Amino acid sequence: MTIYAIEVFHLVHTCPANPEPHPVDTRRRIVHVTPGRDCLTPKTFDNGVTIRCGDYNAYDQQCANCRTIITITKVTTHDLGYQGPAHLAPVPAEESA
Ligand SMILES: [Zn+2]
Ligand SMILES: [Zn+2]
Repeated sequence: MTIYAIEVFHLVHTCPANPEPHPVDTRRRIVHVTPGRDCLTPKTFDNGVTIRCGDYNAYDQQCANCRTIITITKVTTHDLGYQGPAHLAPVPAEESA
């Protein structure tokens, strides 16, 4: 099977619509690919072209070598803080007293 190792990077912020930090952008990066071995049940057409079962079968019907596994190796969250019009910014607790 082919194993993809992925890093996930979340950008979060707060804004007038939602004072709780929430994701605005999520980026994923492939950090490593472990290639699978040859297909166990390839299909050969009359014209001699052979394709992997992973190219035409649904995931649960693919052979063990064609299946893809995704593992998340690292999740990073970066908080951008408040983004929005200044007059709508949440007032910090110590200043509201
Ligand atoms: Zn927002
Ligand atoms: Zn296969």
